[in-house]
Amino acid sequence: MGFQNPVFIPGPTNMPEVLRKAVDMPTLDHRSALFGEILQPALAGVKKVLKSETAEVFVFPSTGTGGWEVALTNTLSPGDKVLAARNGMFSHRWIDMCRRRGLAVEVVETPWGQGIPAGRFEEILTADKEHRIRAVLATHNETATGVKSDIAAVRHALGTTGHPALLFVDGVSSIASMDFRMDEWGVDVAVTGSQKGFMLPAGLAITGFSPKAMAKVETAKLPRAFFDVRDMAKSYASGGYPYTPPVGLLNGLKVSTGMLLDEGLDAVFARHHRIAEGIRRAVHAWGLKLCAATPDLYSDTVSAIRTPEGFNATDFVARAASAYGVAFGTGLGEVAGKVFRIGHLGSLTEVMALSGIATAEMVMADLGLPVRLGSGVAAAQDYYRHGAPAKKAAA
Ligand SMILES: *Cc1c(COP(=O)(O)O)cnc(C)c1O
Repeated sequence: MGFQNPVFIPGPTNMPEVLRKAVDMPTLDHRSALFGEILQPALAGVKKVLKSETAEVFVFPSTGTGGWEVALTNTLSPGDKVLAARNGMFSHRWIDMCRRRGLAVEVVETPWGQGIPAGRFEEILTADKEHRIRAVLATHNETATGVKSDIAAVRHALGTTGHPALLFVDGVSSIASMDFRMDEWGVDVAVTGSQKGFMLPAGLAITGFSPKAMAKVETAKLPRAFFDVRDMAKSYASGGYPYTPPVGLLNGLKVSTGMLLDEGLDAVFARHHRIAEGIRRAVHAWGLKLCAATPDLYSDTVSAIRTPEGFNATDFVARAASAYGVAFGTGLGEVAGKVFRIGHLGSLTEVMALSGIATAEMVMADLGLPVRLGSGVAAAQDYYRHGAPAKKAAA
């Protein structure tokens, strides 16, 4: 089996040829001026993608998970209280990291398939008169369930109560694919990685710190060393890096942000929305349901599709790989075996999406699900044929 088929996992995503070339760099001296010509545009590009005028961007050799740790350790102290909803595998893991880091987490248990309950957050923040909660954690797009949460509503919950807690947002599977407004939503630390919306190999933790978050860096007492943003800030100021940088990935980030901004962020988001909507029409035609409970929660980057009772959704993913050489996502945690996931973010076109839908139909038919071949493809074709095409996929 070759590697010609696109992947339909929600990260790592398909890599455009131009980015594969951009990460393939000869050795260069990272203490030379040349490095600054890669680093500075990459940082500036990220800041634009975050829609921020005021954020300081820090990029570490790591992954999104490392980005969570960057947010926590640079702004909080041992025993600090944080507030978070658990509504999927990624919010669950971030909560787990907080506990391992000695933070006290107030967890709002939320059904998987629902978004962050901003109303419940508001009640908790209102009751916290002494402002013991130091940070609110929000997973913008729960990749396990295909659920998008309303970050503006979480900020509103903080605002109406006049609560000073920081707002940390995991945007690993939303940033660069779905609308993300760091300044407008008052996000204090935004976290993402290189291998999803940025269409690069894994290897970078990409973070943005608001001025309010930067003000906490000096007083935060959680131990940190490798992930200390002060070391990063100091090195950036002199055009360098605190250790040997992953130059190829940073060059990829420079080129990737350039591509996204050239296409136009709104066009990127519209393309993702159209591709996602076609996939949702296919799911509907199959007579299946999404894990996301209501349309306002539908993610434009990943769809988690519930399979019928008694069917093991993991078999779907195994069959797609073995029979057709196509990768889909399995269910994680509470929805393991109950859903399969179609990742539809990054470098993707409507035509690529149609191939994924067609493959899913063959797999379901092979496994005896009552799905008529072509039904989902036709529903998506009908949608994709009308209206402005989501052209210009990253080539
Ligand atoms: C992929 C993902 C992560 C984890 O990122 P890694 O780069 O694998 O560490 C965290 N949060 C969300 C929402 C994700 O989709």
